[in-house]
Amino acid sequence: MNKADFPILNETVHGRPLVYLDNAATSQKPQQVLDAIVEAYSRWNSNIHRGVHHLSQVATSKHEGARQAVADFINARSADEIVFTKGTTDSLNALAFSFGEAFIHEGDEIIVSGLEHHSNIVPWQMLCERKKAVLRHIPLREDLSLNLEAFKGLLSEKTKLVSVAHVSNVLGTIQPVEEIIRLAHARKIPVCIDGAQSVPHMRVDVQALDCDFLVFSGHKMYAPTGIGVLYGKREWLEQIPPHEGGGEMIDHVRWSGTTYNELPYKFEAGTPNFVGSYALHKAIEYIESIGWEAIEAHERELTEYCEKRLRELEGVNVYGAGHKKAGVISFNIAAIHPFDVGTLLDQQGVAVRTGHHCAEPLIDTMGVPGTVRVSFGLYNDKEDVDAFIEALQRAQRMLT
Ligand code: PLP
Repeated sequence: MNKADFPILNETVHGRPLVYLDNAATSQKPQQVLDAIVEAYSRWNSNIHRGVHHLSQVATSKHEGARQAVADFINARSADEIVFTKGTTDSLNALAFSFGEAFIHEGDEIIVSGLEHHSNIVPWQMLCERKKAVLRHIPLREDLSLNLEAFKGLLSEKTKLVSVAHVSNVLGTIQPVEEIIRLAHARKIPVCIDGAQSVPHMRVDVQALDCDFLVFSGHKMYAPTGIGVLYGKREWLEQIPPHEGGGEMIDHVRWSGTTYNELPYKFEAGTPNFVGSYALHKAIEYIESIGWEAIEAHERELTEYCEKRLRELEGVNVYGAGHKKAGVISFNIAAIHPFDVGTLLDQQGVAVRTGHHCAEPLIDTMGVPGTVRVSFGLYNDKEDVDAFIEALQRAQRMLT
């Protein structure tokens, strides 16, 4: 599917054609996005919002156009609910600080899950330390699915926020976020969804989900690094204070004190990444030109095909096998360290990720030193999977 749009996929690595299967870490960029970056800097680069001159007005309209495009993309009620950030980590840190300042007090509890990325653990731990609050996590069942019975037991008057991944970046498994949101909302507890691994692979509709916050990164969805999103329902964003001070986020600054700008600007201190937002807009247009139906069907077929081929191999253990997945598969080969597998695959031009994938608590629960992770983008195809399996079999022969 549209491999030709991604120039980097013509590269060779160690003299072999590149097979890029590390999309959960970051995706490659289509020419349309690369062109957008060049266009921005060569035709209308200028600081936004403050200028009366032509270029500044063009740059401002591109940035605000991107905000509207993101709002439409995730079906937010209004573009005011879209805060541009540096990425998922930045969004979660901003939320942890701002939400924490307004709503977290000594003894309060925040719930995450047992399979979170460190980005959805550490900011909450830091908040809990600051406020003497408690971080709880939903335990996993034997099959690495979330134990929702245990989740019900964790919810109480002390719970002030639930924050969970939509798709596990280690296992690729799609989490029951609808049920989590329903259970939390029954107690009027807001829910943040970490969409870093879902938004690039499926239609995520914040109104249908009814999540209170959604965070994601541009660079995992064919846009550049350094641009991401914090979506929040207006009623929540209005109640929480800014996490950073500076230009843009103010209404008036006096020695006697400062009043803050309206949404979403109160959360965007300093010059924003307006080239990044424009390129993100182009990435969204690129995704929409192919269409979610085609992308989801293609990636589902590829993931199932790869998982099937992996399970046919002697000694290969696929984690979370048989569960519904979104473009990510983790596995190990008996008695072989994942790092060794990754190194031998790299020598054959196949890029995968090995290690704990920034999810040490999950890896500890799994009782392994790490995993080998393959992850797909819309441009991957069955030939990539076949090349990967062939390279893996060669690696396995060399290591056993
Ligand atoms: N959350 C999940 C589920 C992720 O997979 C990642 C990145 O891999 C992050 C958060 C952090 O994203 P970023 O590094 O773009 O801030």
